[in-house]
Amino acid sequence: IGADSYLNLTRIFKIDNEDATTRPKKVNAAFVILVRNNELHEMKKSMKRIEDRFNKNYLYPYVFLNDVEFTEEFKIGVQAMTNAKVEFGTIENRDGKVHWGYPDSIDLELAATRREEMQAAGVMYGESESYRHMCRFNSGFFYRHKLLDKYEYYWRIEPGIDYSCDIEYDPFKYMKDRNIKYGYTIGLYEYENTIPSLWGAVKAFIKKHPEHISTANSIKWLSKDGGKTYNGCHFWSNFEIGSLSFFRSKAYTDYFDYLDSTGGFFYERWGDAPVHSIAAALFLNQTQIHWFKDIGYKHEPWENCPQDNVKCYCDPQHSSIHHYYAVCGKNFVEGNHTLPVADFLKNI
Ligand code: GDP
Ligand code: MN
Repeated sequence: IGADSYLNLTRIFKIDNEDATTRPKKVNAAFVILVRNNELHEMKKSMKRIEDRFNKNYLYPYVFLNDVEFTEEFKIGVQAMTNAKVEFGTIENRDGKVHWGYPDSIDLELAATRREEMQAAGVMYGESESYRHMCRFNSGFFYRHKLLDKYEYYWRIEPGIDYSCDIEYDPFKYMKDRNIKYGYTIGLYEYENTIPSLWGAVKAFIKKHPEHISTANSIKWLSKDGGKTYNGCHFWSNFEIGSLSFFRSKAYTDYFDYLDSTGGFFYERWGDAPVHSIAAALFLNQTQIHWFKDIGYKHEPWENCPQDNVKCYCDPQHSSIHHYYAVCGKNFVEGNHTLPVADFLKNI
């Protein structure tokens, strides 16, 4: 067909997409991206990859979030990469909570001292305030942004990532059809010096709220000694496909509020990856967490590369599953990790 007809076809497709009733099979879902204005070009690269490999066929919308206003240059730049709807949100406080910044309960001097100590100890991002705001926002607030109210599932992307295989089905639909609440590609061990007191806080929370633990939990994936200590296993959260209702649940809300009240996001440097992963392993059934083994995904320095798909351009030998540090992702799908709740409570 000639260029004109092709243009017409894309127009028709776009109009069709805007009328949700004509595409009943699509899940109520969006890409969610927290990003800075100065990351525009890396962001465009990520979008190009996800569009080519998946979204040009689905046109799921994008929600961009930022702690400051997006520039016109940024907005025009990212909109140019897709035919899907693109929305831009500035993070605002909501429901009496500080979404990006210090809650009143934080001792700012103590936080500053701790940052200096962590920097001196060589902790990654140990000195950074903005990194802590980012981790806390991604832990407890991204799903409370008003632009996400209307969605049921989200897919997190970041600037500078790569999708190396065609994704020939809809991961949102795959999850929804099976009641899966959390999907990952890579699982790693956390740097212990970023979370010295996180597991203690989790245990204290569980003593207060044992009712939130799933009887089909995955606690043995988190702990090799019946819950006494945390082994650091977590899903790498720069890739996530998740259910927003999981994060909006009473269990997750109680959990996040408790963690936040300890100040650990600021006095230490708790990452959103272990915070999300611990919650998923405690509150969900093991079958509600899914390894997207078949999605070729890279965020430096790790990547998930399927071992047997000719449509990928990644090198299967470079897949993180071959590295001891990244065994947590593969381990998750091997065996049953459920610890009886009574045993867990006895041990903590
Ligand atoms: P890393 O992957 O742990 O090294 O952390 P990144 O620097 O990639 O940050 C994680 C995500 O949060 C990325 O999507 C960043 O664009 C975003 N991000 C990090 N810090 C900020 C910030 O201060 N403001 C905004 N708007 N986004 C941020
Ligand atoms: Mn990143």
